[in-house]
Amino acid sequence: MPARVVVIGSLNMDLVTRAERLPRAGETLVGQSFATVSGGKGANQAVAAARLGAQVSMIGCVGGDGYGEQLRAALLAEQIDCQAVTTVEGSSGVALIVVDDSSQNSIVIVAGANGRLAPEVVNAFDALLQAADVIICQLEVPMQTVGHTLKRGRALGKTVILNPAPASGPLPADWYSSIDYLIPNESEASALSGLPVDSLQSAEAAASRLIAAGAGKVIVTLGAQGSLFANGQGFEHFPALKVKALDTTAAGDTFVGGFAAALAAGQSEAEAIRFGQIAAALSVTRAGAQPSIPTLSDVQAFSPS
Ligand code: ADP
Repeated sequence: MPARVVVIGSLNMDLVTRAERLPRAGETLVGQSFATVSGGKGANQAVAAARLGAQVSMIGCVGGDGYGEQLRAALLAEQIDCQAVTTVEGSSGVALIVVDDSSQNSIVIVAGANGRLAPEVVNAFDALLQAADVIICQLEVPMQTVGHTLKRGRALGKTVILNPAPASGPLPADWYSSIDYLIPNESEASALSGLPVDSLQSAEAAASRLIAAGAGKVIVTLGAQGSLFANGQGFEHFPALKVKALDTTAAGDTFVGGFAAALAAGQSEAEAIRFGQIAAALSVTRAGAQPSIPTLSDVQAFSPS
């Protein structure tokens, strides 16, 4: 039986421009290129888990516009089960992304249909949660739905991952006890903990605070510095692979999807973190969100044997 991962989250059409640098307020810049690319943190993590070996179901909402059909088709092309990708009235979610020559990005998201993913939609597909090994949520869909799903996952005894992205402040206190793995990046760890996070040491302090709040285990991703694992007993730093970064869009999503797929397949936490980091490092060497996510064979070819 392949490992089963269920992702509850967003599907966005990414409208991606490349420019020499990011525009300042009120400034108009001439860009170098434009493309529409399927994205959204939920869909990206679903694609990552699928390419990296898991059998994946997606629970989410798309609009009744052309983007909705393209978003669904992109997931179906990855053999992702889309029975729970629900079409609602109005526009699909979109993300306006600018990537500059040094691979920094700047992103504006309009939730659109993602804002219509109500707890009832998740309840209608409870059988998928029951069949899951690992359940992944992010914060691009209504908070009420995320909280509901985390608790349902915990009640079913599943491994529950929350990637708290994007984060603008602390999480509801009653969520923590339903989270097995909380996976923030530096700015999210800072928003959640109220502490500055810009180094390994400060990531340790933030992770400790999140574990004290009740999270089972915390993995703070630190970009080119890799990631920090904390479980309440201690910390382990996993350095990133050294690669030439072209576009860091979806690095975190690739890590989360890869980590979940490896964990669902029965790998240890440390193996799953290393696997996620190889996948994420490969993704930053390629442009775009979903197009940049590597396959299982890409990762196996890259791993030292
Ligand atoms: P996010 O995309 O959510 O901001 P990070 O930037 O922390 O997430 O990246 C997630 C993971 O991707 C990191 O833990 C690391 O393993 C990998 N990664 C990100 N940037 C690089 C890089 N420049 N070189 C190698 N690995 C990277």
